[in-house]
Amino acid sequence: MRALRLPKWKSEPELVEVDEPTPGPGQVVVKIGGSGACHSDLHLMHDFETGSVPWNPPFTLGHENAGWVHALGDGVTGLTVGQPVAVYGPWGCGTCARCRVGVDTYCENVAEAPVPGGGGGLGLDGGMAEYMLVPQARQVVPLPDGLDPVLAAPLTDAGLTPYHAVRRSSAKLGPTSTAVVIGVGGLGHVGVQILKATTAARVIAVDTREDALKLGTECGADLTMLSGEDTAQEIRLATGGRGADVILDFVGADATLALGAAAARTVGDLTIVGIGGGTLPVGFFSVPYEVSIQTTYWGSRPELIEVLELGARGLVKPKTSTFPLEKAVDAYRKMREGTLEGRAVIVP
Ligand code: NAD
Ligand code: ZN
Repeated sequence: MRALRLPKWKSEPELVEVDEPTPGPGQVVVKIGGSGACHSDLHLMHDFETGSVPWNPPFTLGHENAGWVHALGDGVTGLTVGQPVAVYGPWGCGTCARCRVGVDTYCENVAEAPVPGGGGGLGLDGGMAEYMLVPQARQVVPLPDGLDPVLAAPLTDAGLTPYHAVRRSSAKLGPTSTAVVIGVGGLGHVGVQILKATTAARVIAVDTREDALKLGTECGADLTMLSGEDTAQEIRLATGGRGADVILDFVGADATLALGAAAARTVGDLTIVGIGGGTLPVGFFSVPYEVSIQTTYWGSRPELIEVLELGARGLVKPKTSTFPLEKAVDAYRKMREGTLEGRAVIVP
């Protein structure tokens, strides 16, 4: 079968011929219906090096995956061949306290995980191929009725990651609150939809691209702003001088972190989701009083089940552009150039 593989750090991915996987005991092979292209893959290609993470290439890219059960290994129960499924991406040991409640992202026994701190497309083979081996059957989540794998795939990261970030701040997202989404790309546009579908907060979408702001409006943003010198001031003006209760930064560059700190309301949340390499100097008087500054990483398996439900009910619907495997590199080129709208999904 064909697979899009990252051969080494600081390199472009290659479409190559590899053996089809077969499932061992407790494992599942999924026939891929869609595999989302994430900006994190660009960081993998260009920014990471040996020591950045506890795993290394080569591996097949694609950590947002959905499709149909293709083959079941010995002892796997509760799944049937042909059943539509999504793959929960972070793979932990399965037995530590965190994994037991479905928070594989923070597995406390990574030596027993299939790959320490990674998953399919992150150290092990992912879904940018015709078939993908999932080494633990519990990571295969049945799709609710009516949800197309092409939409389910981005929901496993571009949906799950903002959902987890929104849930973490839910106490601060009431009817009188304002949430700001910085970066209305793959994650951010779904983030706007999740805020509108699950909270009563007013939503301001911020991006450097007009097209992204248009998408923000389509996704339900109440207000959009081009990112620039005066954006923090504009956010203060739009919130009666108070600032935003919750700021979700899907970029994570110096400029966006500074914007977040300047636009936050006292006792607000500034959540760093983007891994753009920026830093924020924090001192007692440099951020508004009692602002919580936090990172978030992906989400839990129970949260994935909730996001898929939002997708099946049409409350959250990623805007997708599909590409065949042989055009996957074009999807990444467009992402880098900023000419993608929403999420690119590779359909092998
Ligand atoms: P994307 O390329 O689809 O979207 C990024 C958006 O940010 C684009 O619309 C771009 O125009 C906008 N942008 C860039 N610079 C900006 C600036 N200075 N001000 C305002 N907007 C700006 O990327 P994506 O796939 O949505 O990923 C976003 C980030 O989140 C990446 O850094 C990615 O690696 C990271 N990520 C983090 C997690 C996590 O668990 N924390 C999970 C997935 C992705
Ligand atoms: Zn990702």
